[in-house]
Amino acid sequence: MVPVVLLCVRIPILSDRVRLMLSRVLCASLALFVTIGTGTSRADGPFPPHKIADNTYYVGSQDLATYLITTPEGHFLINSGFEETVPLIRDAVQTLGFKPTDVKYILASHAHSDHVAGHARLKELTGAQVLVMQGDEEVIRKGGEGQYLYTDQRWLPCPVDRVLKDREKLTLGGVTLTAHRTAGHTPGCTTWTWRTTDRGRPLDVVVIGSPNVNPGYQLVGNTAYPAIAANYAATFRRLHSLPCDIFLGAHGDYYKLPAKHATLKTSDVNPFIDPQGYTDYVTFKEKAFREELTRQGGTISEPAVKHSFFIAGPTFTGIIGEEGEELWNAGQPAARDGYVLPNGNVLIAWGDEVRELTREKEVVFRYRKSAENAELGTVQRLANGNTLITELGKRPRLLEVNPAGEIAVECPLLPETDNAHMQTRMARRLPNGNYLAPHLLAFKVKEYTPQGKVVQEFATDLPELGGRPAENWPFTAIRLKNGHTLVNLTHGNKTVEFDPQGHVVWKVGNDDFPELKPFADPCGGQRLPNGNTVIASYGTQGPIKVFEVNREKQIVWKYTGPHRAHEIQVLTTNGEPIEGDPLK
Ligand SMILES: [Zn+2]
Repeated sequence: MVPVVLLCVRIPILSDRVRLMLSRVLCASLALFVTIGTGTSRADGPFPPHKIADNTYYVGSQDLATYLITTPEGHFLINSGFEETVPLIRDAVQTLGFKPTDVKYILASHAHSDHVAGHARLKELTGAQVLVMQGDEEVIRKGGEGQYLYTDQRWLPCPVDRVLKDREKLTLGGVTLTAHRTAGHTPGCTTWTWRTTDRGRPLDVVVIGSPNVNPGYQLVGNTAYPAIAANYAATFRRLHSLPCDIFLGAHGDYYKLPAKHATLKTSDVNPFIDPQGYTDYVTFKEKAFREELTRQGGTISEPAVKHSFFIAGPTFTGIIGEEGEELWNAGQPAARDGYVLPNGNVLIAWGDEVRELTREKEVVFRYRKSAENAELGTVQRLANGNTLITELGKRPRLLEVNPAGEIAVECPLLPETDNAHMQTRMARRLPNGNYLAPHLLAFKVKEYTPQGKVVQEFATDLPELGGRPAENWPFTAIRLKNGHTLVNLTHGNKTVEFDPQGHVVWKVGNDDFPELKPFADPCGGQRLPNGNTVIASYGTQGPIKVFEVNREKQIVWKYTGPHRAHEIQVLTTNGEPIEGDPLK
């Protein structure tokens, strides 16, 4: 039998690299216990198995994370830990009421001993297929042989049933996992994402493969792994682009498992929902990578940002490609709002009609404005299959229209003006079932229950924003994953982020770009998963029609083509699709 590395240290903030360094030291002695500081315990000692969200469970050890994703047709299991971790995983699965033999797929975070040395045992136990990302398959097949840096480590070799490609999707029993190749830590390091629910709320899960640069990793002039630095840089771009509500990782310490687990029973909210924690962690790890790269004398040239995007605008409604070319034209300009749907169809609101069009321009859904009102504003396809539409006029209202074209929900709006055109724009339904509606002349964004009760208001005429004279008419209101609300203020030429109490936590406007002055009646907007904001300058007389600004208020992309935009939707960045529901 191949000697197996046993790593038995538990320090809450122990990094992959310290573990691996220790594992190399420990390899010779096969020591079972190491005492560090005051505690004696094992990183692969037992930890209470627990539910994270619907169909998503933790069945790993104290720090070596293993996840069980259950479906009616069998289960996914991510990571096996060490060979010695496998009985513990088996017991955890059974404790939660599931059968190890129902596991159909064994997956991995990356081919280091602490995540995959137990694969062969686990495969034997479950009869499941082992699927591995391209780049890590040989190391798993050969039980550790061929690893970068850890050349002396060996464990039980495990047959690999299938090699995965970047972004490959695995579907079982109605659940789809996506494998993101996030290489650098290993060439096939994999970040897993899927959609789950918690108390009825849809949530995006991310299990980070590993963002860590281990001690001894050579980022510059590495002949054993020439692409290592470029791989890390691409990994951070990908991690920043993933929508995340539930933040998980290959080790529990990535996401502070012990602290979150300790509050599981007493907390009203699910402690694993931590979008800010995810963003902060990825940012922190990227900084560490870049500092180490600089220390080693390396640099990375970032590719220029290119987007393809949908425009609902006065001269063109359709899709623009990454080179500025027209990819698809709806054939009728002057649309006000719209979405490219996950099935590829395009849902568009014109002033008098909403239509969902296939790319061949077949109409598959239609709603015409009621006779009593003056115009239509918003359109949004909802998770329940209904379409959210606003009507402006004598009876300003939000409607949910079902697929048959019938009104399923009607919610009266309180825009505080009879001026139909200025009553509301870009209303959206929130994950909590309420609606968020910007009311231009009321200088307020209001959150309504489906019964029409206003439960929250954000004032846009605050003294710090210039008061009423600034004419901050709210046009777009986007509820962010962290609970903040991003608002484009047309006429006032600002984009402002409010916290739940209505305080301004971030703003950007022409004062930040005294030369360029890119804000000209900002109408539509979008918050990208990387935290940047895309703004449509509807009223521009200059070249910049749409632009992207980062948190540090630098413009990182601009569209200077012929068409102005009322609303936009970024679809791809440098050839990669924007993941998740667009925040716009
Ligand atoms: Zn590792």
